Amino acid sequence: MTCLGTGDALGVPAPLCDCEYCTESDRRRRPGLLVESGDTTVLLDVPPDVTEGLHATGTTSLDGVFATHAHYDHFHGVHELNHTQYEQHVWNEDDYDHPHPLADDLTVYGNDSVLKHVHSQTPHLTERLDFEALNLGEEEQVGPLTVEPFRVDHGGPLFHTQGYVVTGPSGDDGGSGPSAETAAVAYAPDANSLDPNPLPSVDLLFVEGSLLGPELHADAEELREQVARVDADRVVPTNVSEHQAELHTAALEAHASDLGYEVWEDFQTAVV
Ligand SMILES: [Zn+2]
Ligand SMILES: [Zn+2]
Repeated sequence: MTCLGTGDALGVPAPLCDCEYCTESDRRRRPGLLVESGDTTVLLDVPPDVTEGLHATGTTSLDGVFATHAHYDHFHGVHELNHTQYEQHVWNEDDYDHPHPLADDLTVYGNDSVLKHVHSQTPHLTERLDFEALNLGEEEQVGPLTVEPFRVDHGGPLFHTQGYVVTGPSGDDGGSGPSAETAAVAYAPDANSLDPNPLPSVDLLFVEGSLLGPELHADAEELREQVARVDADRVVPTNVSEHQAELHTAALEAHASDLGYEVWEDFQTAVV
C-alpha cells in the first residue's frame, strides 16, 4: 500500500500561508490510500491531488475506487478521474504504442450519502463514471482484495462517513505464493469516533490525526482509547499538519512516536 497523502483538508503548506511550519515542512497532500495486490489496484478516497499521486506511484489503471465520504479533500479528485473517461481526451491513442490506459471503465463505490451527493450536486459525473452503492454490512470483492465498510462518525462538518477494511493475501507477490496468509489494512480518516468492536485484527490502521492533537475532528484522549482497543500492529495518523499542530516535522514525529504511532510522509509504502 502507498499513502498518497498524509495531510489534512488544507494540506501542507496551507494555501497562502507563510508560517514557519508551512515553509519549513515537506509537502503533505490530501488523504488517499492506494492498495495493490498482484495486478489489482484499489484506491481509498480520491483527493484533489489524485493525478499527481497516481503518476508518482506509476499507477495507470484502477480496479476500484472507494470513497469514505464526499468532502472536497477526500472526494473531489473524482473530477480528475472523470476526465480519464472523455473520448476526446484520448483521440490520439493511436500515437501511443499501447492502448491508452485512460479508456478503462471505472467504478466509484460509496455509501448512499456519497451517491446522493453526486446525483444532486454533480450529476454530469454519472455520465462517464460508474457509481455503485456500498453500505455497512456489504462488501465488494476486487480481484484478490475484499473491501468492507465500517462505521465512522465524522464530527463537524457532518457527512455520513464510513471507513474501509481491505483484506487480501499477504506479502509482496500478490499472494501467488503457496502459503499465502491474509493481511488487512483499515482506513478511517475524519473520525470523531469509531467503534473498534467490529474491526478485525489489522496489520495497519490509518486513522484520524486528532490522535496527535490539535483536535480537528475528535477529542484526542477519547480517540486514542478507541484506537487502543483495535487490534492493530501499526497505527498511522492521517490528516497530519505541522501548520495545525504548530510543530516542526521532527517534533511531530517524536510526539507520535511517544504515543506509539507512526507519522508517515507522502508516498510512503508498506508491505503486509
Ligand atoms: Zn502555515
Ligand atoms: Zn470530511
